Amino acid sequence: MTTNPISPTIALDQDGKHHGFLKLPYSRDDSAWGAIMMPITVIQNGEGPTALLTGGNHGDEYEGPVALQDLALTLEPAQVSGRIIILPALNYPAFRAGTRTSPIDKGNMNRSFPGRPGGTATQKIADYVQQCLLPLAEFVLDFHSGGKTLDFVPFAAAHIQDDKRNENACFEAMKAFNAPFSVQLLEIDNVGMYDTAAEEMGKVFVSTELGGGGSSSARSNAIAKKGARNFLIHAGIIKGEMEVAATVNLDMPDGDCFTFCDRDGMHEPMVDMGQRVKKGDVVARVWPLDRTGVAPTEYHANRSGLLISRHFPGLIQSGDCIAVVAVEVD
Ligand SMILES: [Zn+2]
Repeated sequence: MTTNPISPTIALDQDGKHHGFLKLPYSRDDSAWGAIMMPITVIQNGEGPTALLTGGNHGDEYEGPVALQDLALTLEPAQVSGRIIILPALNYPAFRAGTRTSPIDKGNMNRSFPGRPGGTATQKIADYVQQCLLPLAEFVLDFHSGGKTLDFVPFAAAHIQDDKRNENACFEAMKAFNAPFSVQLLEIDNVGMYDTAAEEMGKVFVSTELGGGGSSSARSNAIAKKGARNFLIHAGIIKGEMEVAATVNLDMPDGDCFTFCDRDGMHEPMVDMGQRVKKGDVVARVWPLDRTGVAPTEYHANRSGLLISRHFPGLIQSGDCIAVVAVEVD
């Protein structure tokens, strides 16, 4: 059996605050005996549960890395009962390149689980998380945003699961995160997701979509920082009062939530995010790139609800997700 080549440069089970790296040997043209050095912080104090906090699962999403850098720097062991494992940039090569997927192997971390110890760099990282980090944790928080090609209203999300006890625990943790929106999320493509791996192990798992466009904002970063702190209070790992504001509860019941583009062109959003739409409303138009005098193609909402996500760049391709509509529930 192949063993995973990643080794931590710090102990993962010692009291105190330790900053180090997960070291993945990676021999290449510019470093014959080189390694990928993925930053990791472990903050531990005595008995208690473990939380695994990850950002940069996709390398062009920044609220998670910002909030987790801040947490790793400012949280002290005396404030902790248990352990917090912090990985601000899970797909570290992608994070360094500012791209969704890894520049080394084009690996999409969130389609690479459970990973392979003898596979590509992305598969090795996924395997290490699956075999070595997830088993240590009871609570798992994975930050996402839209990256360069999507934008989202800021939400925390949990999934419908077969295990209703764990499903309920995940929804409670999502509520504790207390983003402005809380979504019962339907995945269009859940095979290989970190989410699925964590849920199948019975972990209390929350993910987010906090913004997008390949950057972050003061508001979205504040939501990420507050959410991480609330999540850790909910887990019983840090003490304090949760900061709670109103949240809009949303459901994504089926594939009618998504509208996809079927031509290349220039994207004209017709509805801004957070606005209500009715089934059949035009959510976006796509103009030809190469001529004038031709009407744009209209794209419609397939159901009534709130626009929670849209294609971000000014240009769009056939096959791109152009808009996402979710349904308000209480
Ligand atoms: Zn993502």
